[in-house]
Amino acid sequence: LRSLLNDPDLLATQAYVGGQWVDGDNGTFKVINPARGDVIAEVADLSRAQVADAIAQAEAAQKDWAAMTGKERAGLLRKFFDLMMENAQDLGTILTAEQGKPLNEAVGEIAYGASFVEFFAEEAKRVYGETIPGHQRDKRIMVLKQPIGVAASITPWNFPNAMITRKAAPALAAGCAFVARPAKETPLSALVMGVLADRAGLPAGIFNVVTSSSASEIGKEFCENPAVRKLTFTGSTEVGRILLKQAADQVMKCSMELGGNAPFIVFDDADLDAAVEGAMMCKFRNNGQTCVCANRIYVQAGIYDAFAEKLKAAVEKLNVGDGLNEGVTTGPLINQEAVDKVLEHLGDVTAKGGEVLTGGNRHDLGGTFFQPTVVTGVTQEMAVAKEETFGPLAPLFKFDDVDEVIAMANDTIFGLAAYFYARDLSRVYKVAEALEYGIVGVNTGIISTEVAPFGGVKQSGLGREGSHHGIEDYLEMKYICMSV
Ligand code: ADP
Repeated sequence: LRSLLNDPDLLATQAYVGGQWVDGDNGTFKVINPARGDVIAEVADLSRAQVADAIAQAEAAQKDWAAMTGKERAGLLRKFFDLMMENAQDLGTILTAEQGKPLNEAVGEIAYGASFVEFFAEEAKRVYGETIPGHQRDKRIMVLKQPIGVAASITPWNFPNAMITRKAAPALAAGCAFVARPAKETPLSALVMGVLADRAGLPAGIFNVVTSSSASEIGKEFCENPAVRKLTFTGSTEVGRILLKQAADQVMKCSMELGGNAPFIVFDDADLDAAVEGAMMCKFRNNGQTCVCANRIYVQAGIYDAFAEKLKAAVEKLNVGDGLNEGVTTGPLINQEAVDKVLEHLGDVTAKGGEVLTGGNRHDLGGTFFQPTVVTGVTQEMAVAKEETFGPLAPLFKFDDVDEVIAMANDTIFGLAAYFYARDLSRVYKVAEALEYGIVGVNTGIISTEVAPFGGVKQSGLGREGSHHGIEDYLEMKYICMSV
């Protein structure tokens, strides 16, 4: 991997704590390239005590950081952003090597991840408080916005860069110190951010990366350590529930970006080609491994067969392979469990009467490669209607009328993203309002941007990331009542 980088010094395998590079008291753990199955790095495996030390260092550094002006913090974050963009190709190569997505998607993720750093660098200057007319003649009321303190994050492997910056950038802009625990599958993409934070001149202890093979140990330390005042998590609803329970003892503030089960609805007045293009991006980007990927594709009866044929043709053009190779559109799945989940959902569909239109099996390349798959005749009784597949399986459900499909789309504990394609204006408005989701894409399959609030309702989460709202999760309000 080192030999593929323009700047080999970007590849860090020690943890980044208090501005220092440290070995793990528990030795190292291996990072595997999912496309080739080989070990690409051995990364520091920190003990719980070492994570407690990182939190202590963050706490010690935070007050000075918060005391800087917004403009001073903005300047440093801007440098951080510039360094990410200057090194985007190398950061993308590291990301593809440990995560599997095609290199152009990985470089795209770096630009997306960096956009949060740029955006929140700008927002650092605009953490406005408020004055409120007093309730008595001698009273003056002010509302200050102050940083919460130390924020800790736990993030997944599917967006190893952007899931960290989406949290760290607003936290740092607000004046919080940050301790990041990346997924054990993708620690290198987090550690390289330590290298860049260092080069950007962020003060020691403000941005820390604690790598560990034991997520649950770190999760406990984050929840039980009184110096941590904010926990921000992206991952499954299952783990989110565990963390919320653990965080309850300290009444810790939590932001949760949890699972989705996104419906993608195609109405009979839709532009079919646009809908197919949107479905392709929405379903097969990152090989179906995003929490906003279309999980259930509902197609109105009159256009069902035509849509299925066009989608099949588009899917058959995908080029599966090692993401570092030219022209590859679809990488491997992250690991064997991910393959098993796709096989389980596929088996359930075919056992209950659905049919495979294209794909339907592991890929000839072996390993964790899987054929991009479309299945038809899918119904609400099948597992894929209830659970996230997180893989390259596009299930096509058939529906007749608007109310029916809204009911089906909302029939889930999740509420992150939903999409639909239609052109009738009153239908568009009605459906957009009726979908019980935090994000709705209308005539588009791609909704992620740093300028909009990303987040879910129901069991998909708490809080919003991105936009001017995103920084609020890292701020406390203080109301000052003054008698004059
Ligand atoms: P995913 O399917 O995206 O891996 P998970 O919720 O399983 O979703 O994992 C998201 C992150 O949470 C990963 O970094 C994982 O290591 C971590 N994690 C898993 N279990 C726990 C736990 N009990 N406490 C804290 N973190 C956990």
